[in-house]
Amino acid sequence: MLFPATNAGSLPKPEWLAEPDMLWAPWKSRGAELARAKRDATMLALKLQEDAGLDIVTEGEQSRQHFVHGFLENVEGIDFANKVEMGIRDDRYKAMVPQVVAPLRLKGRVHAAEAQVARAHTSRRLKFTLPGPMTLIDTIADRHYGDRVKMAFAFAELLNEEARALEADGVDVIQFDEPAFNVYMAEVNDWGIAALERAAQGLTCATAVHICYGYGIKANIDWKHGLGREWRQYEQIFPAIAASRIQQVAIECVNSRVPLDLLQLLDGKVIQAGVIDVATDAVETADDIVRTVEAVMAFVPKERIVLTTNCGMAPMRRETAEAKLNALGAGARLARERLG
Ligand code: ZN
Repeated sequence: MLFPATNAGSLPKPEWLAEPDMLWAPWKSRGAELARAKRDATMLALKLQEDAGLDIVTEGEQSRQHFVHGFLENVEGIDFANKVEMGIRDDRYKAMVPQVVAPLRLKGRVHAAEAQVARAHTSRRLKFTLPGPMTLIDTIADRHYGDRVKMAFAFAELLNEEARALEADGVDVIQFDEPAFNVYMAEVNDWGIAALERAAQGLTCATAVHICYGYGIKANIDWKHGLGREWRQYEQIFPAIAASRIQQVAIECVNSRVPLDLLQLLDGKVIQAGVIDVATDAVETADDIVRTVEAVMAFVPKERIVLTTNCGMAPMRRETAEAKLNALGAGARLARERLG
């Protein structure tokens, strides 16, 4: 089937699960009650995506407070009690981050509960998101390894352990989120892609990397204003990604200043093309989506195009996110009709 539709990964959480309309939202309950609430929210997220007509669904990241720290919570060697302020993404934002204080090890499975609930309740293809190694080490303070690359590869091994287990749970696509990839371009080429490949080592399911210019929050919007008329960061990293074993690249294509001709540098990859803007509440029409698909098709064969959202929708209002999911499904159907 042409133009299967998916989403970047995160969806807003219901207000009975966590504080609405914000990142790092505090949970509304604890213990067994929280576990039940996460499970219910996961099933609801799947239902909304199925009804919207998405073909590759996600668990909506309903069980994690943040896309990075959700993974860290089950890693031994991290001091969560004493967070420190750190500039992240080359100082674009300040965040209170936990510290690595000892050798890193998984305490056990990280995402088993939500992956298994999702697998049991949908027959659609299931995509699961994990943070990439470079983004992980850019979101935590190091008091142990003393070396960014060493710590990145330590995390890559843990990510690989969890990714293999997710594959065994029945996940069809593992997507690593690497928003740090358009910030540290030289390091991406030096070791970032090698660390990503380490995280994906041995997987037989589809593998993807999501790179983006971030959620629609103020720090990102301000940063993007300073990046100039054209965002050409990807020109420096796409050739190395094209040469890697990662099969799919998710990238924002609508209302983005990324020149789409750069997609030619990803020859051979499946492109998850962002056709839904997450930085505006305006809901795309199916025609808008078809126009974006046509623009991508100028540089990518249509058999290799998947439709997605530019980035996660975690901080968005629920009704807006739902309307955008419905638009995405409708846009994919119209694209199949017109361009199939
Ligand atoms: Zn993103």
